[in-house]
Amino acid sequence: SSRASSVLSSVDIPTADQELSGVYDGSWKGSGDVLKSICPTTGEVLARVKSATPEELRDALAKSRDAYRYFRTVPAPRRGEILRQIRYALSNKRDELGALVSLEMGKIRTEGIGEVQEFVDICDYGVGLSRMMNGRVVSSERPGHSIVEVPNPLGVVAVLSAFNFPVAVYGWNLALSLAAGNATLWKPSPSTPLCSIAVTKIVSRVLEENGIPGAVASLVIGGKDVGEAVVEDKGIDMVSFTGSEAVGRAVGKVVQSRFGKVLLELGGNNAAVIMPDADMSLAVPAVFFGAVGTAGQRCTSTRRLYLHRDIASEFLAKLEKLYRSVRVGDPLAKETLLGPLHTQNAISIYHDAVGYLRDAGAEIIAGGERYDAPPLDQGNFVKPTIALPKSADPKDRIWRTETFAPVLCAAVFEDVEQAIEWNNAVPQGLSSTLFTRDLRTVGKWIGPEGSDAGIVNVNVGTSGAEIGAAFGGNKSTGWGRESGGDAWKQYVRWSACTINFSDKAPLAQGVDFSA
Ligand code: NAD
Repeated sequence: SSRASSVLSSVDIPTADQELSGVYDGSWKGSGDVLKSICPTTGEVLARVKSATPEELRDALAKSRDAYRYFRTVPAPRRGEILRQIRYALSNKRDELGALVSLEMGKIRTEGIGEVQEFVDICDYGVGLSRMMNGRVVSSERPGHSIVEVPNPLGVVAVLSAFNFPVAVYGWNLALSLAAGNATLWKPSPSTPLCSIAVTKIVSRVLEENGIPGAVASLVIGGKDVGEAVVEDKGIDMVSFTGSEAVGRAVGKVVQSRFGKVLLELGGNNAAVIMPDADMSLAVPAVFFGAVGTAGQRCTSTRRLYLHRDIASEFLAKLEKLYRSVRVGDPLAKETLLGPLHTQNAISIYHDAVGYLRDAGAEIIAGGERYDAPPLDQGNFVKPTIALPKSADPKDRIWRTETFAPVLCAAVFEDVEQAIEWNNAVPQGLSSTLFTRDLRTVGKWIGPEGSDAGIVNVNVGTSGAEIGAAFGGNKSTGWGRESGGDAWKQYVRWSACTINFSDKAPLAQGVDFSA
């Protein structure tokens, strides 16, 4: 369609009916299985992409290793300068890339652009970091001795990413990995190949202009088999995996069994807790964005809503009103707030969850079905759903499972202790939020008796983190941390060096081994 081709040509992706190369390791290639990029809004095939064969993957891994051997000797501030150029190249194409995210993944335009902005932001962070990845000098107990902790480049970092953030997750990893002096090999989601090709074209051009081997930022598009081969490869020093708990559990075991490093960013099952003194003008829109934004396909989407008894019906009435007026349609259209689910499979997941709720006697306050009138029936459009399950028992499947679709379950609580208990009772631990004006409740929420998630917000929705803090979750979300904070420290290997400047050789702890 002309809608698609104008977006694709703006990011330098050929629109003629040809098969695109899905592998980059200094040059473009790809002769494996052909993957289709399907538009979730219209169902049309946007492009065909040739994935990596096992041999092409082996080649890319070897080239990445060579690129690392070169790149680790490039001074960190010089690596930062390359990141700065990547940052400008990306920001020059921000709106076009954002539109590509909307076209291929299905999130609305402002969120697509926001995702590219996040990549730009983390590049800025990486530029600063390139002059601030400081080690430490530690006092030695021995005279004439000094101890230094040195951060050295780690090696080759593989980034396996999920469909729902086809640009930003790679950005978080690339910026830190590149600043740290590593080579990065990206295995994106097989259903968002065009986003990864467009980004790699931009990044590789900057590398090439600077005389840096392109395999410092390699791309291998492929499905499960390519993912498995990457994860098993002993030449990958760290696997940074973003995806579902089920796949992450397998990936974690494989990497652990070969004693590699692994960073897991898995599913979330995030709750918003609304106290009776909450400011409704903040809380209602925050839950609306958290649950309906990205059609419920963020790892940080609000899936559970815990309402204090005193405000429960007022809150639900206000929220329902927003749900009923949500502007649904083409995510590229300016006024749209709700785009499609990414795949048809996600529609079945949505139907399963709604069916389960209905069978269990839940009250469906809004939604519960797909949009089946044209033109929405061409795409994967479902109505955002609010359900009031009969039971708030956290052991029930509906409360324990991440349903990657816009289904929000609500329950009513009596006191904050009960809400925190429910918040913490699920396997996942990614994001959480509390709405209150009471400082005492805030103190409890963010302290030892509070939320056990990695993200513990107050009067801010569960989704939409900035890059400055380390991002990640606890428990079955995998304990990984990416982006800001101390996350960079995982992308280096630490060398603890005790140096003797003296003419004597005393042993630590006063051990006497004199012959
Ligand atoms: P997924 O687990 O299906 O796929 C993730 C990646 O793993 C893809 O690149 C896929 O090709 C690859 N893969 C699949 N099987 C593999 C295997 N056996 N070995 C190695 N790689 C394999 O996830 P998805 O459906 O693309 O993404 C949605 C999930 O990602 C949700 O659970 C969401 O919460 C999670 N997510 C988490 C975060 C976070 O930061 N915590 C961010 C975004 C998404």
